[in-house]
Amino acid sequence: MLLNLRDMLAVAKKHGFAIGAFNTSDLALVRAVVEQAEETQTPAILQFAPGEFKYATPWFFRYVRERVKDSPVPFALHLDHGKTVEECAAAIQAGFTSVMIDGSLLPYEENKALTRQVTELAHLFDVSVEGELGTIGTMGNSDEGGVKDVLYTDPAQVVDFVQATGCDALAVAIGTAHGIYPEGFKPQLRLDILQKIHEASDTALVLHGGSDNPDEEIRRACAIGIHKVNISSDIKQVFFCKIHEIYTGTGNFMPPQVFGPAILEVRKTVQEKMDLFGSTGKAVCWRMLD
Ligand SMILES: [Zn+2]
Repeated sequence: MLLNLRDMLAVAKKHGFAIGAFNTSDLALVRAVVEQAEETQTPAILQFAPGEFKYATPWFFRYVRERVKDSPVPFALHLDHGKTVEECAAAIQAGFTSVMIDGSLLPYEENKALTRQVTELAHLFDVSVEGELGTIGTMGNSDEGGVKDVLYTDPAQVVDFVQATGCDALAVAIGTAHGIYPEGFKPQLRLDILQKIHEASDTALVLHGGSDNPDEEIRRACAIGIHKVNISSDIKQVFFCKIHEIYTGTGNFMPPQVFGPAILEVRKTVQEKMDLFGSTGKAVCWRMLD
């Protein structure tokens, strides 16, 4: 089934787990996530950042929608880090069930106004909206962007932002960064800030930059109130490492023999994340709604 983020996260929240949102820019990565989700009856979010959206082309999303719409497992098709109303509108037109509008680099009032504008448009089509408050860091090796110095989400602003914009989920900045951390770098998640945000608002919270963080910190963040965790670099890295290993080891360039094993490697990482987020086997929670 193909749901919007609001309907995905409401159930995750009720049953106390987080859903993995995987950046799946092409067929091989979509297959890895969808096949693993179906095999283990686990809800999953397929997401595309604007660069990935453009690369895949709108035609590709016809396939993605067709592939998952009759599945017994819940999926959402989500735009990651939309920066403008136009990018969000293009995703809605391509059949996405959810969009993120990232106005986090704008002054607070402008972020609010932009997010409100996208929410008003998206809700007309029953498409849900993720906003962002605070800024997420970047390691400079991912295509989702970010800033050098993280500006932590101000818990006091969360209630006002969610009320004023009507957004369905909120990305919070608590010290993660997009990309893979350099050797020796230890990310410090401010779980105390997350706790304050959770106490201030009952909106569904999203953790970006979930790749390459210690499992225990992610587990604790999910226990406090994160219900969507974004994973991009972790799956892409294992995918391309496997391709590199096969090609340099054997010289084989036949897609089934190169991409096939690479997809299996990605599936292993996807499953580790699903276990970490507590979502494995939870598709049954949606069937209980019927
Ligand atoms: Zn992000």
